[in-house]
Amino acid sequence: MKFLEVHELSKHFALKKGFLSRSKGTVKAVRSVSFQVEAGESYGIVGESGSGKTTLGRTILRLITPTSGKIFFNGVNLCELDPEMLRRLRRDMQMIFQDPHSALNPRKTIIKSVGEPLVIHEHMRGRALRQRVQDLMEIVGLKKEHMYRFPHELSGGQKQRVGIARALALNPKMLILDEPTSALDVSVQAQTLNFLEALQGKLALTYLFISHNLSVIRYVCDRVAVMYLGRIVEEAEVNELFDMPLHPYTRALLSSVPLPQARQPDTKILLEGDIPSPVNIPAGCCFHTRCSEKIGPICTTQEPEAVSFSSNHRVLCHLRR
Ligand code: SF4
Repeated sequence: MKFLEVHELSKHFALKKGFLSRSKGTVKAVRSVSFQVEAGESYGIVGESGSGKTTLGRTILRLITPTSGKIFFNGVNLCELDPEMLRRLRRDMQMIFQDPHSALNPRKTIIKSVGEPLVIHEHMRGRALRQRVQDLMEIVGLKKEHMYRFPHELSGGQKQRVGIARALALNPKMLILDEPTSALDVSVQAQTLNFLEALQGKLALTYLFISHNLSVIRYVCDRVAVMYLGRIVEEAEVNELFDMPLHPYTRALLSSVPLPQARQPDTKILLEGDIPSPVNIPAGCCFHTRCSEKIGPICTTQEPEAVSFSSNHRVLCHLRR
């Protein structure tokens, strides 16, 4: 049994318009996604904006209801739980959001924000609550005095740490981190990544790390899934993905990442145009409208099936059959 198992997960949204809420189509944000994560592992999901990675994270946490598929967390199918059981199990899975400022209530002091889950779920009060919040502040590298400040009195990096302290309040086993550094100044991004890496070791956490930035994924993750238009098009151990990218989309993403001279690909692969709308997914291979390596009508008519290149490396492309 794996720590997290996602089977054929899909999330579609109906697009409605007008007074009569007529259907205007369906947004297929996540399409038949399957992957597994081991306890203590750091698993990355990478892709452009609009690839469905944030919807995937929220669906796994059951903040939104999946259209189909299964999510097993420690062997329990999250899709079959009633709201009360789900609420209890959600203590073990917490999400860190991209914008640390909007994740905090501007009218609440930090002690109130961080202590809120403890008050709600553990009915903690008084000295015990203050002590637990102080411990959490210490874990995330903040001082006791920060507890009595308001969010606007903290820097972006400090607010992100407060968000992490709040997420850690109920001793979760897994964190879903949605672009946790992209809203921060470049100067604090590296610091925050180092901190997250140390935190994972210290608390034996499992990370699902969502990012558009392959350099960040490489730094933090053990394995990575590349998402395009709601599908995982390639999955591999992070070093293998960088050394031997098999999918044309992965290669295009990698060629835009600054790498040491020796590893820089000979030619830059330009990703032309924007990612198509998830309402009108191209037929055949969903990447064919931007693929520079298309091999003929098969790419525009037949959806490729996953091919395993090695035990830890699979790809969705007709070139690799
Ligand atoms: Fe490109 Fe065809 Fe592979 Fe799709 S299946 S990525 S269009 S070569």
